[in-house]
Amino acid sequence: MSTDPIIVCESLIKVYTIAGLEVQALQGLDLTVQPGELMGIVGASGSGKSTLLNILGGLDRPTAGRVWVDQQNLLKISDQAMNRYRRQTVGFVWQQATRNLVPYLTALENVQLPMTLAGDMGRSARARAEGLLQLVGLAARQHHHVAELSGGEQQRVAIAVALVNQPKLLLADEPTGEVDNATAKVIYGIFRDLNRELGLTTLIVSHDAGIAQYVNRVIAVRDGKLATEKVRRTSSADADPGVDTHVEWVVLDSAGRLQIPREYLQRFDIQRRAELEVTADGILIRPVTHPDEPATATKAHTAREETSVKRTHWWQRWKK
Ligand code: ADP
Ligand code: MG
Repeated sequence: MSTDPIIVCESLIKVYTIAGLEVQALQGLDLTVQPGELMGIVGASGSGKSTLLNILGGLDRPTAGRVWVDQQNLLKISDQAMNRYRRQTVGFVWQQATRNLVPYLTALENVQLPMTLAGDMGRSARARAEGLLQLVGLAARQHHHVAELSGGEQQRVAIAVALVNQPKLLLADEPTGEVDNATAKVIYGIFRDLNRELGLTTLIVSHDAGIAQYVNRVIAVRDGKLATEKVRRTSSADADPGVDTHVEWVVLDSAGRLQIPREYLQRFDIQRRAELEVTADGILIRPVTHPDEPATATKAHTAREETSVKRTHWWQRWKK
């Protein structure tokens, strides 16, 4: 039996208008996420990753299309319900850890702060905050001020803060953008452990294709649309370490359009047109040999010429 997806985006569109100019940040994006998924989102700078995450996090509203998270329609939801959604349903981790944290408070105080704001104080709140820091491997540093922690440690505190409201959905926008590779691995490892231990649905935006090692599915966003999707063949995230067990798929949108990865187009010098050939087990995409004379047009042209030649022959014979 299949469960209801936690996220459904259909033909999602986001248009920003600055000084009368329109920027289409999302151009009809389709995405379905099941509860408990651990997913990576990659794509070039400006492809729309943050826009998507901000919409899913209830920080921004889409222009058109459909977006449902945890049965809530984020296009139609009232401002009041949106505030509640942000407070109760999602946790957000930003690229700059400091955007999540108050620098002059300790790690523990930072985790307790959202609890205090929600009126949750006292010993049990403190114990919960300590537990969260333990979950991200920072128990030993809980009394350090944020400024005394390394970038990676700050980001781990930020993850603990994002978990305070026990979110159903954890969203992280380039959480490893400002740390070195070794630290990035630690941070990805924490997301993976949280996903396994708490079943937390997690979406991580990354500039780094290496994220595929830590997640079960990676989607690539290109020009505000889903372009390709990589899914791990085996169910366990730690099977065959070091071996890439992913299969890559190209994604069709709801209108049946697909984007062919740019490197394939370049490799076969496919420009404005391609030939499709149906074979026994699929469809073959081939470059057009004379791009200026597309195959179908050439045939039509030839047919017309042949008819004209035949007619001329008949005319000449009749005249004789
Ligand atoms: P990414 O996170 O993949 O780098 P973004 O989602 O930030 O991409 O941006 C997608 C496009 O939308 C870019 O062209 C960007 O300039 C534009 N954009 C993003 N946010 C805004 C905004 N608040 N106002 C105007 N344009 C924006
Ligand atoms: Mg971004």
